[in-house]
Amino acid sequence: MAFELFSTMNRVYIKTYGCQMNERDSEQVASSLRDRGYSIVDTEYDADVVLLNTCSVRDQAEQKAIGKAGYLKKHKKDNPNFLIGVMGCMAQNRGAELFDRLPDLDLVVGTQKFHRVPDHLDNMIQSMNGQGPRPSSVLDLGEEAGSQNTIRDHIGKKGQVQAFVSIMQGCNMNCAFCIVPKTRGRERARPIQEIVDEVIGLAESGVKEITLLGQIVTSYGRRDFPVVNGKSPFVQLLEKIEEIPGIERIRFTSPHPRGFKQDLVEAYRDLSKLCEYVHLPLQAGCNKTLRAMNRPYTKERYREIVDSLRAMVPSMYFSTDIIVGFPGETEADFNETAAMFDDIAFDMAYIFKYSIRTGTPAETMPDQIPQEEKERRNQVLLDLLHKHSLARNEGLVGTTEQVLVEGPAKKGDKYVGHTRGWRNAIFDANERLVGQLVDLKIDRATASTVYGDLVLAGVEA
Ligand code: SF4
Repeated sequence: MAFELFSTMNRVYIKTYGCQMNERDSEQVASSLRDRGYSIVDTEYDADVVLLNTCSVRDQAEQKAIGKAGYLKKHKKDNPNFLIGVMGCMAQNRGAELFDRLPDLDLVVGTQKFHRVPDHLDNMIQSMNGQGPRPSSVLDLGEEAGSQNTIRDHIGKKGQVQAFVSIMQGCNMNCAFCIVPKTRGRERARPIQEIVDEVIGLAESGVKEITLLGQIVTSYGRRDFPVVNGKSPFVQLLEKIEEIPGIERIRFTSPHPRGFKQDLVEAYRDLSKLCEYVHLPLQAGCNKTLRAMNRPYTKERYREIVDSLRAMVPSMYFSTDIIVGFPGETEADFNETAAMFDDIAFDMAYIFKYSIRTGTPAETMPDQIPQEEKERRNQVLLDLLHKHSLARNEGLVGTTEQVLVEGPAKKGDKYVGHTRGWRNAIFDANERLVGQLVDLKIDRATASTVYGDLVLAGVEA
């Protein structure tokens, strides 16, 4: 009987909010559910179980997921066995309170318990046993040693050429605006060899480009593995991945300026697969604001890293995170940040208007900045970003850049790929070219995209 119910209750839809780490965690949950006989479907309307993998970085992100979970209860009218689960950061942050807010919720699973989702669903479905009562809800939030090692399986989508690889979980910093240390816990690194084995498996399945993920990858393994020949565990990991046949491009996100040392700068010179693109969060270009944010570096030190990377690789591309309107940020402080932002000439940036995050030190800081002033500062940086991004892309017109052909573009009949500097590229191609590294002769550019023709001489097309 339980089996019969299972066979009619095994369609799961996973909706992911937030960052690439969450995408990766969702992929792991999907993979482990598939191994257990569940099928992963593309919409909630085809599902018996909906799992929301949530984000807590901003209050708005939490409200969105809460709204969605509330809305999902309508499916219980048609399907009394329909199950709703919340996983990830908001689950960890809000815990049991979610059941008060959302009485129809069945499952709340924290950031160290993703691997337990199949067991929880199996138990719930079996306890329903046809016409049985609704199973009691499950709350699973505890810390679990080794949970970072459970994010290792991939769905293996057909034709997949890029993959994320989680190398660590958690963060020991305490940036005043950030909820991550609370939701993701202390830093925990996966062993180098396990990561290497995972990447070898991905390469064998046709993946060409990998992005190493962690909240603070420059801290990777610093307490677990020794420095060897002046190289941090993170750089040692990059070197190992460089050697894996089939992998053509390596990226990572996010490093922290504090851990960005000379060995990592030199890795950009020495490792040919490490793409000349770095996403290095600045957050503020004003030392007073950096101190208030509890970011342990100065704008001068950040600039030094940028300069040493440019000295090593002149064509380096820079991306960053910036917060405008942090409590206490005066007009003069912001102008300092804007001047630095302009001077570095970032190619890409995620610009955030500060919003109060409950449970963080900045929540109760005085001198909160009015919303309209945050909007204004945001627009100043957006305009600067547009100027620099457009100039960088226009500078590529007439040049040839290598692109990895990723697949059909979302609209039209063109194909999409990225240059090594992570510029979005659109061009004519065909299915046989997907997964190949091909030169693109660029003939047109906007701030967000470059366009051109593939140079196909000598390429199997
Ligand atoms: S380093 Fe990043 S993840 Fe860690 S507390 Fe700061 S902003 Fe959050």
